[in-house]
Amino acid sequence: MEKTLFEKICEGEIPADIVYQDDLCVCFKDISPQAPVHLLLVPRQVITRIALAQEDQACLLGHLMLKAGEIARLVGIADSGFRLVINNGPDAGEVVPHLHIHILGGRHLGWPPG
Ligand code: AMP
Repeated sequence: MEKTLFEKICEGEIPADIVYQDDLCVCFKDISPQAPVHLLLVPRQVITRIALAQEDQACLLGHLMLKAGEIARLVGIADSGFRLVINNGPDAGEVVPHLHIHILGGRHLGWPPG
C-alpha cells in the first residue's frame, strides 16, 4: 500500500515545517495557509477519514483533541480564538485521505464556513 502524503511527512520523507510532534501525532504548517495560523495535526497511524475511525482509536482521537488545544496555546491563538476543521469526503473538500485536523487562527473566522 502506498504511503499517504502525510505519512511521508510524519516519517521525514517529505519536508514540512513541523511545530509539534510526539509518538502519536505530528503537527506542521499547511503549505497553502488560509489564515495567519494554519496548521495540520495528523496521527502517525493512518486513519483514512473521521467517518472510518474505529472504536479502538478512541484514545488516539482524544489525544489529537487535547494536543490541538495545547498547540493552539503554544502558537499563541488560544485566547484570541481558533477553529478546528476536519474535512470528510468530497462535499467537504477532503483532498488527502489521511485524517488531519486543520488548526486555523490569527484572524476573525467567518461563520458559516463556505
Ligand atoms: P483537506 O482539503 O482537508 O484534505 O486538506 C489538505 C490540506 O493539506 C490542504 O490545506 C493543503 O494545503 C495541505 N497540504 C497539501 N500538501 C501539503 C504539504 N506538502 N505540506 C503541508 N500541507 C500540505
